[in-house]
Amino acid sequence: MAEFDLIEAIRVRCAGSRDDVRLGIGDDAALVAVPLGQDLAVCTDTLVAGVHFPHATAPFDIGWKALAVNLSDLAAMGATPAWATLALTLPQADASWVEGFADGFAALAREYKLALIGGDTTQGPLTVTVTVHGFVPGPLALRRAGARIGDAVYVTGTLGDAAAGLRCLDPKDAAADRLHVAPATTRDALLARLNRPVPRVACGAVLRGRAGGCIDVSDGLLADLAHVCAASGVGAELDAANLPTSSALLGLFDDAERAALQLAGGDDYELCFTAAAQDAGELLTDLARSGCGATAIGRIVAGSGVRVRDARGAPLVLSRRGFEHFT
Ligand code: ADP
Ligand code: MG
Repeated sequence: MAEFDLIEAIRVRCAGSRDDVRLGIGDDAALVAVPLGQDLAVCTDTLVAGVHFPHATAPFDIGWKALAVNLSDLAAMGATPAWATLALTLPQADASWVEGFADGFAALAREYKLALIGGDTTQGPLTVTVTVHGFVPGPLALRRAGARIGDAVYVTGTLGDAAAGLRCLDPKDAAADRLHVAPATTRDALLARLNRPVPRVACGAVLRGRAGGCIDVSDGLLADLAHVCAASGVGAELDAANLPTSSALLGLFDDAERAALQLAGGDDYELCFTAAAQDAGELLTDLARSGCGATAIGRIVAGSGVRVRDARGAPLVLSRRGFEHFT
């Protein structure tokens, strides 16, 4: 398949139709119109085969996840998704791979009426870079820098499932005996969190103008909350016993292993945010109504860094705090 046939296969699936796209895929640049009174929120995330997803991942899942991780960043700003561009580097022009990839991308794009408005297609090791654009009234945008001493710390959904799913795929994992005899429904639930993360866009919209600091959990809760603390000039204390846990995760790991997955596993794509205690009740109700509740996991304190206490109140120290490139 030639380069332009690949682009066409992507365009028919992903271009969508929006009034604010004056000119989409097919020219040297797209032309779009930002609504009056809104700021444009823009972010980019790259997925590299073998680094961000196992080589054997289905093309549909790669397409879904490449968009999902970007929408998660928009969610963490409280922005509403609108457009995306896609830079795709492929080892070869494999039509069925590209169609599966585009179907996965389109399945998630459709939920947000997001339009793919351009991109670039090149040959090389499999790498997917997506840039997304969204709208947010500037003063209401969620930032990392908004946490205040005395705020409670919350996280949406549950933590640790995706990291546990990755362990299910590793035949040499230390817990392979347990993971491989786990019920198929348990393994499928964990793998779904790894391969088809659901960005918390609706939660971000609820939190807009109301949360203190906010970030999406992609590299691991400790690492990501540390960014909020650094940007806000505060510290945080977490209670490991309060971390929200899915039933799939509960049965498979002991407390220490589970805490490590939930605090430093990464790939969760939940929102971690802070809020003043007096605002929390209504906020939590509105979040639950939006489709995904949140759990209080700790508090913002004076100082710096993130400390964790175990169920008995003793300090919990992990050997690895989260995912980092170049380490
Ligand atoms: P140019 O050479 O001017 O950069 P290209 O030939 O790379 O343009 O692309 C032709 C059109 O197809 C452009 O509008 C570009 O945005 C779009 N396009 C290329 N690759 C992709 C892709 N992977 N996804 C979406 N649009 C793409
Ligand atoms: Mg080009």
